[in-house]
Amino acid sequence: MTSTDAFIAIREVEKFYGSFQAIANVSMDIRHGEFFSLLGASGCGKTTLLRMLAGFESASSGEICIDGQPMSEVPPYLRPVNMVFQNYAIFPHLNVRDNIAYGLRRLRLPRSKRHEMVEEILDLVKLPGYGDRRANELSGGQRQRVALARALILRPKVLLLDEPLGALDKQLREQMQVELRRLQRSVGITFVFVTHDQEEALTLSDRIAVMAGGRVLQVDTPSRLYEAPRSREVANFIGTMNFLGARVVSRANGHLRLDIEALGQLDLPAGGTPLSEGDRTCVAIRPEKITLHKDRPGGDAPALSGTLEMTTYLGERSHFHVRVPGCDNSFSVSAQNNTIQGGEGQASGRPVWLTWRDDALFVLGKD
Ligand code: ATP
Repeated sequence: MTSTDAFIAIREVEKFYGSFQAIANVSMDIRHGEFFSLLGASGCGKTTLLRMLAGFESASSGEICIDGQPMSEVPPYLRPVNMVFQNYAIFPHLNVRDNIAYGLRRLRLPRSKRHEMVEEILDLVKLPGYGDRRANELSGGQRQRVALARALILRPKVLLLDEPLGALDKQLREQMQVELRRLQRSVGITFVFVTHDQEEALTLSDRIAVMAGGRVLQVDTPSRLYEAPRSREVANFIGTMNFLGARVVSRANGHLRLDIEALGQLDLPAGGTPLSEGDRTCVAIRPEKITLHKDRPGGDAPALSGTLEMTTYLGERSHFHVRVPGCDNSFSVSAQNNTIQGGEGQASGRPVWLTWRDDALFVLGKD
């Protein structure tokens, strides 16, 4: 990414609460018009970072620029951003129109203009005709739409969303995810979205920053995070992953010769890893990239032999747990239609073999 791509530039930002470091040296760029998510477990610093973008918290060191302007001296109400919270923060005693128009009060617009703007934004969030309804007569999803409308009515350059769908049930949450994506596309505003739900982040985002312990581990598109996580931490956080411990035997011509537990020596592309001879690392493979065989497969492709521990039937797919001698964890294998290559036989305790395509196994960074 070049520096001109940075609509929001976060440079070496740190945040201390007393002696506790909530954010540790975070640098990243968010592009104009991007749906960008901060993803991580509870307490990793997502909200703190979002609140620093909003100006509700100041950075202990480092710099945040939005649209080319340094923000350190700019108070929240003068920043080109608005924020939507998980708990809606709408006034229950006001009707929908007055709740939304609340954001316009500083502009001293004529009543007819205010009215027009509110009707327009109600259309956008799919609540036409709801202006006179009291906020406490709305469902959770409708309240969240009102909160979005209020945040969007002044067309901020950036909308900050802190787990905005967290209070909704699963079905409504999935429906609102689609709505949110449509809304972001139609207004073209940069969205920075906080969530601890990896599926939600993968569904919604153009790019995701995966965070842990106040640090940003990787910033990438959903597919790159899934297909090419750079560390075990990221791989563990996005979907399910199988790992095998490994040691680097040698490195040459962009390839690593690895000594892999239960597999022996194998050459794999080094990718962007800084690994060198003697380093300990691990290799990884996704459950759906493994083929499970009932009989020992022919040929000289690498294969792992193991014992089937458990099968979980999930309708469209089944999950198989396989114990491989010499591996710390059991292997997770996901297959369509409850199948094992070579025929029936899902009985626990039976021997099975695992194979995969060459490019499915990849090496992670240093352990
Ligand atoms: P969650 O998903 O639970 O909201 P989060 O990733 O948003 O978590 P933050 O709210 O950013 O996490 O908090 C990061 C860390 O900073 C936590 O350990 C939290 O306890 C701490 N923290 C947050 N605000 C303060 C504060 N005002 N004073 C002291 N510590 C704080």
